[in-house]
Amino acid sequence: MIPEQALNAKRVHISACDRYESGHTDELTRRLVLDSGLADMVTPGMAVLVKPNLVGPYRPDRAATTHPLVLEGVLCVLRELGARVTVGESSMTKTRKALEVTGTREVALRYGAQVLDFDVSEYVEIQSGLSYVPRIPIAKAVIDADLVISVAKLKTHYANAFSGAVKNCFGVVPGRMKLQTHGLSRTKARFEQALVRIWQLTSPALSVIDGVIGMEGNGPTNGRPKHAGVLVAGRNAASVDMVAADLVGVPVADITYLTAAVRGGLAPRFEDLEVVGAPETVRFARPSYVMRRMDAVIESYTPWIYEKLLKPRVLIGESCRSCGVCVEACPEGALRSRQDMAPVLDDAACITCLCCQEACPSDAISARNRLGDRRFVRGGPR
Ligand code: SF4
Ligand code: SF4
Repeated sequence: MIPEQALNAKRVHISACDRYESGHTDELTRRLVLDSGLADMVTPGMAVLVKPNLVGPYRPDRAATTHPLVLEGVLCVLRELGARVTVGESSMTKTRKALEVTGTREVALRYGAQVLDFDVSEYVEIQSGLSYVPRIPIAKAVIDADLVISVAKLKTHYANAFSGAVKNCFGVVPGRMKLQTHGLSRTKARFEQALVRIWQLTSPALSVIDGVIGMEGNGPTNGRPKHAGVLVAGRNAASVDMVAADLVGVPVADITYLTAAVRGGLAPRFEDLEVVGAPETVRFARPSYVMRRMDAVIESYTPWIYEKLLKPRVLIGESCRSCGVCVEACPEGALRSRQDMAPVLDDAACITCLCCQEACPSDAISARNRLGDRRFVRGGPR
């Protein structure tokens, strides 16, 4: 569970950082995590698990993954403090390749850290207290660590409005078990409740967000790189997320898993946060679809109305290359591959989790309201 100190942490530190450059980005990250109190948390020999966001095998310039220079700043401090460090992740797809392509493995090994692919490492099933997903598999290295650090990426998110330090914790669930969590949750509200529980179980004592160049629009994988010029860090991941989201113009009220965390007493209210540092704000383009708060309520309480009127239609566009990745990513088996053609959707089986949109390497998948009325689609057309 989230440490008491992190639970009550109202302070969030922001550092301006205008570019990725060796000796600059890593040094600013290093200072930021020291200002955030990392030296007080670590003693020599302590086992520290560092969790970057490697959503897939994308090069750093795509801005979908934590930049290796930001990771380097964190690893540098941990080495100075004498910690035993493991860098671990389970990506949406192809974790082993993601660890290579993003530059994560190289920087981790350079700092003497162990690198773990959670897809193939040991895991333990933890009682969640949630009836629909009673046991959540978590990488054993996370449970065994003395301290966990989330090193996330600043992104808008197609299904959940925003992706930062809390959402980064979902990658402690190994491989396809992440999809099972989506499938068992079925609704957005329940999935976000599971997401918050996974953050609680991961219990990062420090969270860092790489927002030097973030991703706007259809993140976490198919948006556009956008310069924000910031690094954000703090003890409470939800506090860090709220500040980072506000910096790029995403209303905290729209990020329902964060508002749920505040209501549940897991994070201070946004109004009560104490921000150290004053960078310029920048506005990120919104995703072309995010479920409205009211739709999520209707989905939970009157699913037949949601199904008939509000459930978005998942569409596959012309940029599809028939790679089949979305078929693999669908937790409900709602997509069927076809030779040299776009997959076919079984609309009745679809739970609109949008894992397919996240996994598609060609930005071919979108969600549109069933009635075709774009007034219903938050953020409007792309
Ligand atoms: S929609 Fe995307 S993921 Fe699915 S087959 Fe086409 S290109 Fe591949
Ligand atoms: S088709 Fe896409 S949105 Fe529908 S259940 Fe499968 S992954 Fe989720």
